[in-house]
Amino acid sequence: MIESYIQAGKLASKIREEASKMITDGTLVLDLVNYVESEILKGGAEIAFPCNVSINEYAAHYTSPAGDETRFKAGDMVKLDLGAMIDGYIADTAVTVLASGNMDENYTQDEINLHEEIIEASAAGLEAAIATVRAGVEISKIGEAVHEAISEYHLNPIFNLMGHSLEQYNLHAGISIPNYDNNDNFKLDEGQAVAIEPFATNGEGMVNDAPGHYIFSYMANKPFRMKSTQRVLKYIQNNHRYVPFSGRWITDEFGERKGAIALKQLSDAMAIYPYAPLREKQNCFVSQKEHTIIVEKEGCTVTTI
Ligand code: MN
Ligand code: MN
Repeated sequence: MIESYIQAGKLASKIREEASKMITDGTLVLDLVNYVESEILKGGAEIAFPCNVSINEYAAHYTSPAGDETRFKAGDMVKLDLGAMIDGYIADTAVTVLASGNMDENYTQDEINLHEEIIEASAAGLEAAIATVRAGVEISKIGEAVHEAISEYHLNPIFNLMGHSLEQYNLHAGISIPNYDNNDNFKLDEGQAVAIEPFATNGEGMVNDAPGHYIFSYMANKPFRMKSTQRVLKYIQNNHRYVPFSGRWITDEFGERKGAIALKQLSDAMAIYPYAPLREKQNCFVSQKEHTIIVEKEGCTVTTI
């Protein structure tokens, strides 16, 4: 089990490093997510969730739909969040970079400096969080460390986004790791796998749902009159029963129109859950850094380092 966590972590980390070099002015987001997802499969792992690429005020839950023409602009604050899974054991990791290129065409030097600090703040939050982890640590203490580290930059964490425990074939296994002291005195145990993911922002630190759905999870079997919707559901049950999937994978398989109708009907009937992209309430910039760790007696192993 530990071996699979470590193996998945090594792969995810290598892909994260390679893929972040693709975040340059003019690159298609679709090319980045396709690269990440195909590298996970080439590495002998499964995709634990669609590659999330969230830009600027978007914190999470965007992935390219089929035919996405979105391109990075130099200086964009890009969160790349990816997951690899081996035997069901998941590595979940994210990094934020400013898209390279002539940033000063799009942002002032002061803005660029601020954006670099926002990125540094979530990294400092993650480092502080990891330093607190050992068997028996209260999860509110992890959150407190994140909040303190980010506050030193005079920035806010995102208060309504959390890290999470991981279990076999289970990306969000029940325990939430806050990015502030939420008074939860639940204690982590030795051997527990956890994804810690501080977000930092120059806004007030809350995210809301934004329009569109690009990522989904299977929920329950339901009957459908429309044959093609029934077929899509069967396909999801066979291929994406345990972890989130991309709308793009469905439209690639069944065609744009049939795929989109099925996704809508399945969501409306709560056979699948549609995730909304999450956007900072004041449309301020958001950074994220995430590692997967395994709790040990006197500390932790970071699998995605
Ligand atoms: Mn993640
Ligand atoms: Mn996560």
